[in-house]
Amino acid sequence: MTHTDAPTPTRAVTDGLTVWAEVDLSALEHNVRTLRALAPRSQFMAVVKADAYGHGLVPVARAAVRAGAEWLGVAQLGEAVALREAGLTTRLLTWLSVPGTDFAAALSRDIDVAASAPWVLDEIAAAARATGRTARVHLKVDTGLGRGGAYGADWGALVRHARPLEVEGAIAVVGIWTHFALADSPEHPTVLAQQERFFEAVAEAEREGCRPEVRHLANSAATLVHPSAHADLVRPGIAMYGLSPVPQIDDDFGLRPVMSLRARLALVKRIPAGQGVSYGHAYVPDVDTTVGLVPAGYADGVPRNATNVGPLRVGDLRTTIAGRVCMDQFVVDLGPESGAEAGDVVTLFGSGPGEPTAQDWADATDTISYEIVTRVGARVPRLHLDGPGEHP
Ligand SMILES: *Cc1c(COP(=O)(O)O)cnc(C)c1O
Repeated sequence: MTHTDAPTPTRAVTDGLTVWAEVDLSALEHNVRTLRALAPRSQFMAVVKADAYGHGLVPVARAAVRAGAEWLGVAQLGEAVALREAGLTTRLLTWLSVPGTDFAAALSRDIDVAASAPWVLDEIAAAARATGRTARVHLKVDTGLGRGGAYGADWGALVRHARPLEVEGAIAVVGIWTHFALADSPEHPTVLAQQERFFEAVAEAEREGCRPEVRHLANSAATLVHPSAHADLVRPGIAMYGLSPVPQIDDDFGLRPVMSLRARLALVKRIPAGQGVSYGHAYVPDVDTTVGLVPAGYADGVPRNATNVGPLRVGDLRTTIAGRVCMDQFVVDLGPESGAEAGDVVTLFGSGPGEPTAQDWADATDTISYEIVTRVGARVPRLHLDGPGEHP
């Protein structure tokens, strides 16, 4: 996944920044179009929860809509409200609530809501009566993830609880949905079993009188590798950001990574062989060398367990972090002959030739690429780029 044509900010934009994330909105739009082409008969919900997986909620949502997303999806109501307050009028679903969630705030902004249990429907219906709106509800069935959703016989009970509220006009069941446990393991038998259970659950709801507009279950992995799960609407997240939900499959599906994380060297200096580097002296060079101070740390989302293993590119040098990752900084060993200077750019991950990827970081730190991009700290500026620029 290397792309020399990714837009880059001008040096003037990043001058003086310690660490920043470049967000290539043209890549995001390309990914949305690529995924839509894979599921041409389904509507597209751009999943932009968690600040668009760390990429910046509102600019990403706008770009996804430009590229054809008919829906936006977020976990938390506060994220949905933020999208409406930014002026986005696209259909919008939020799916995680607790007792006392302010459903009136959702209904007054035309935000669709989700329910996994009768008491949630009661709270939604109360908000509908209070606001004079009909709540657009997506009923969630647990088809085997074992997380949210109504499980087993609870599903029939949920549907039977919804029907009188629908007849009353308090709610409209506009969606029925579920979520996969193992869509990222393409051969796993639970994938087909969950699909079968889902379509049975839909049929049961229809027998009770529900007439949902959209049945939906496909996350990124299912959108990419399980066409039989596309149904009326697909809900990709990670793939939209250009990262693979199935990294074990040697195929980038034509997706382009959207985020690059970079920093500028804050200091370059010589140290002698044997001088331990950073807290705990977890790295000790065995020759006299040049080290660079990188002003990014775990407060910026650099995992502390990237100590000695987090991959980097500095100029033509591909290397790893030297020593412990601290809260605000870490060190790189630039080598005895280095001509690097303070101000030079360090790439933690990107999509250019020779640059480590977010997947490389996930592999190095025993996690998934989702966590690498989502954890980028709130204090790291996101530079949203949508045209060609010049290299910093
Ligand atoms: C996060 C999420 C998605 C997107 O998952 P990806 O694996 O990132 O594609 C889809 N649906 C629901 C309910 C989610 O919570």
